[in-house]
Amino acid sequence: MASHDSSSTVLSLSSPVQQGRLLVVDDEASVRDALCTILRERGYETRGCMSGAAALEVLGQEEFDVMLCDLMMGGMDGIALLRAVQGCDPDLVSILMTGQSSIDSAIEALRVGAFDYVLKPLKMSVLLPVLTRAMEMRRLRTENVHLREAMGMYELSMTVAFSLDAETIVRKMAETVLHSCRADEVGVVLPTAEGEDWRVVMAVGKDREQLVGQATPLEQTVLGWVVRHREPLLLHGAMQLGRYTPVRPRPEISTALAVPLLAGGRVVGVVTANRTQQQRAFTLGDQKAVGILASIAASALTNRQLYHELDLRVQERTAMLTETNRKLQGEIVERQRVEETLRRTEEYFRSLTENASDLIAVAEVGGVLRYVSPSVTQALGYQPEQLVGANGSMLIHPEDLPRVREVGGRLLSTPGASVRLECRAQSADGSFRTLEVVGCNLLHTPPVAGIVLNARDITERKEVERLKEDMVAVVSHELRTPLTSLRGFAELLLNRTFPPEKQREFLTIIHSEAVRLTNLINDFLDIQRLQAGRYVYQFAAVDLRTLLRDAVAVFTSGERTHPVRLEAPDSLPLVYADASSLRQVLTNLLSNAVKFSPHGGKVTVGARPDSTDVRVWVADRGLGIPQEALPKLFDKFYRVENHETRNIGGTGLGLAIVKEIIDAHKGALWVESESGKGSTFFFTLPVCPCALTAC
Ligand code: ADP
Repeated sequence: MASHDSSSTVLSLSSPVQQGRLLVVDDEASVRDALCTILRERGYETRGCMSGAAALEVLGQEEFDVMLCDLMMGGMDGIALLRAVQGCDPDLVSILMTGQSSIDSAIEALRVGAFDYVLKPLKMSVLLPVLTRAMEMRRLRTENVHLREAMGMYELSMTVAFSLDAETIVRKMAETVLHSCRADEVGVVLPTAEGEDWRVVMAVGKDREQLVGQATPLEQTVLGWVVRHREPLLLHGAMQLGRYTPVRPRPEISTALAVPLLAGGRVVGVVTANRTQQQRAFTLGDQKAVGILASIAASALTNRQLYHELDLRVQERTAMLTETNRKLQGEIVERQRVEETLRRTEEYFRSLTENASDLIAVAEVGGVLRYVSPSVTQALGYQPEQLVGANGSMLIHPEDLPRVREVGGRLLSTPGASVRLECRAQSADGSFRTLEVVGCNLLHTPPVAGIVLNARDITERKEVERLKEDMVAVVSHELRTPLTSLRGFAELLLNRTFPPEKQREFLTIIHSEAVRLTNLINDFLDIQRLQAGRYVYQFAAVDLRTLLRDAVAVFTSGERTHPVRLEAPDSLPLVYADASSLRQVLTNLLSNAVKFSPHGGKVTVGARPDSTDVRVWVADRGLGIPQEALPKLFDKFYRVENHETRNIGGTGLGLAIVKEIIDAHKGALWVESESGKGSTFFFTLPVCPCALTAC
């Protein structure tokens, strides 16, 4: 270490106003001391140095505002000292003191960086104003330094604000610390993510990069002290004192600063700064500046950490949402597929229901119809919308209603149960159709939640069944009776010998019974043929009068008990008819008139034109027909059963045949009758169109 004149160091502690710190360098002791004394009296703190080397050593350790330096010195001259000072304290303001003879050198010194020069011998009147200006310059330079520091902080803040990259933040902080403190090296140590190790994450300065990544222990180290105490540590020449164990001994470090990066009272890192090229210690101002930079960086790093965690959470949440979305998409596709299948199934069953010949309906508990399939139009002649909302019981035949209610009650009491019943329902034209109804209680089965009714029109089937039953009854009675009679008389004739007149009597009975059988069988065959549509009508213009006359003639020939008369105008219009079937109509009506007039009586056949028809009637004065029998008179196999008719044979088919034939002619058929007084059967036939035009 170079020696310096320590005796000339004077601290102006008594000075009321601290003008500034002056370093006076002159190898002439008298000049140097005098200057120090005078300037101290002017309020400056002064220190004197006898050589350039001594001055450099002092500048390495202390800070001065202005250096007053002799140009011509032994050893290192003023110019050389100025150059050297630029290296260790570029903000120091230097004033050269020079003799007249070296004025050129003084100008050279200005070029090198001196602020001004004063001529020797020194005059205070000259020096003091220069000194005042030099102090002003120093103040400006210091302000400039503060400005630079502020700029560094500003830049760091901007970096922090716009960068989420930890390395950028740490690097910017390290560089700013390096410049603002005039450090030679800066390092940043951060704990690892697990928090177990502390590692160098940034190292700037000559050959410092290689330290990055190295672990730094906390035990007995400056780092450990700072982390534990959460305070900055400023060291100057104390590294070798044994208080701390240097991780990597560095004797070249003259001064060091370690500042914690504090965020929320927690140490999240440590920034260190070293000076190796200059002896001057870091000041408290340096420490404060680094502290500000460290706190900016610390909060940025913590925010960054928070941001990173937030980002991770956002990423996790995004991944979850993406997955949920993917599943949702899958579910939507699946649901669409299911809906499509359901739609098709629904369409399928709907079309089955709507096109089914059976009538399908859904009813509420009280009988109100909620749905009626379109087949109701075909079955009963209603439009579905006429019945939806109406009570189904209004269609039921009053006679069937109690039974329907009773069965319905049973059905309602058992969820899921089904019942079958037959009932008559009134169709739109007022007639009743027999329905076979299957009801199913689906009140508790969503989505039906109702009574499902499946009805089938069995009117025809019932009719056939009734016909069969009637036929069996007729066959058993009507066929058996003549056959028994035939067989009995035939056996008598075969087994015994009778006189010729008795034989004739028996044979007459056999004949009439055979005729009865023939008629019966013919009636069967006729009605069956007519109803099956197997009979082919030959419609043509028929001369009705001739036809009536011939029919009457049949009933007046031979031994007839009843007078049969024709009452008709001489000329009747031609009718449009099938002559053969018309003959059968007249025969059936005339034979009935005779048959049911057991006590005789006139039978009349009449006819008269009536608008576009011709009305025909057959009247008798026989037994007549009870009122209650009239509605059923034209039904197949219907016969009035009472003591008067008991002995009158018949099949109950004659009038049914008449009705079939008149219907085929699009005519009307009716009867007027009174018990005990006789009956008149009327029918109409359409006048032949040719006859109408002729009129
Ligand atoms: P059938 O004469 O074979 O009994 P129909 O079908 O011709 O059968 O007649 C049905 C029923 O109508 C008869 O059984 C009878 O009771 C009644 N009937 C028909 N015509 C007359 C009539 N002119 N007078 C009284 N009753 C009649």
